[in-house]
Amino acid sequence: MEVFRDIDSLGNYLSAHRCQGRSTGLVPTMGALHQGHLSLLSNALEENDIVICSVYVNPTQFNNAEDLENYPRQEAEDLRILEQNGCHAVFVPDDEIMYVEDPVIRIGFGDMEGIMEGEFRPGHFNGVAMVVAKLLNAVNPDRAYFGQKDLQQFLLIERMVKDLGFRTKLRCIPIYREETGLAMSSRNLRLSQEEKNRAVNIYKMLSRSAKMLESGERWEEVHKEGINFLRENGLEPEYFEAVSAQTLARQTNVFDGNRVALCVAAYVGKIRLIDNLILGGSL
Ligand code: AMP
Repeated sequence: MEVFRDIDSLGNYLSAHRCQGRSTGLVPTMGALHQGHLSLLSNALEENDIVICSVYVNPTQFNNAEDLENYPRQEAEDLRILEQNGCHAVFVPDDEIMYVEDPVIRIGFGDMEGIMEGEFRPGHFNGVAMVVAKLLNAVNPDRAYFGQKDLQQFLLIERMVKDLGFRTKLRCIPIYREETGLAMSSRNLRLSQEEKNRAVNIYKMLSRSAKMLESGERWEEVHKEGINFLRENGLEPEYFEAVSAQTLARQTNVFDGNRVALCVAAYVGKIRLIDNLILGGSL
């Protein structure tokens, strides 16, 4: 496996492969890799000749300095995991490479970021869009892989790719969960066992809510019960929304023909976790 720390050497490697007619897939990550990331990697390996993973904790998408500082970092371990799982190349830039200067442009998504992560993490999606655009420019992959775990992120990136005319095709990979139902996340590394036990109630709540909606319960009731369920189980919900899995518009009548996603963010102690469930399956 090749490891690149600057854009030029990565570019040379990629053009050599492109000259041979090989297709390329990109898996952007912030490291502290787990099975969820590996599920993206294995999909990328199936569909492309050459797969590049990026491992970069992007400072501009953190709206909380403490969260950035405490974000788990384990580069040597990540490189070992990627090599073991058949990744061809890794891009591990540092801040000076990714941000030669502080960007003056801002990327905004209008109503699509007026709710959920965009509402509670101001500036987050500007940072995400900025780094994804930089990565797409650096790698120019045929395909790029993202997780349904960050559904709003995927839909905004999809929109950015359309609006800015990137040629890369995007893939959204279903959420990989622990046996308990807890969605895998690098932030889970920061949970104690007791907090992990509490955190499983996030997915329990989503599943219960889906069942209630499917049996005809009104969203207002489902929402109230969901919030109560989380609180009763020692979690502090930040939002619980039913949105279109295409436009992210809030849905009140969930069975009007749109794909509906139930999305939640909740604190377990100091750690903020997100999860979602699309009624009727994945994207
Ligand atoms: P991160 O390193 O958390 O920025 O995640 C990198 C990519 O992996 C993003 O596209 C995430 O949506 C995706 N991802 C994170 N956790 C999971 C999971 N449990 N299942 C599937 N994809 C995931």
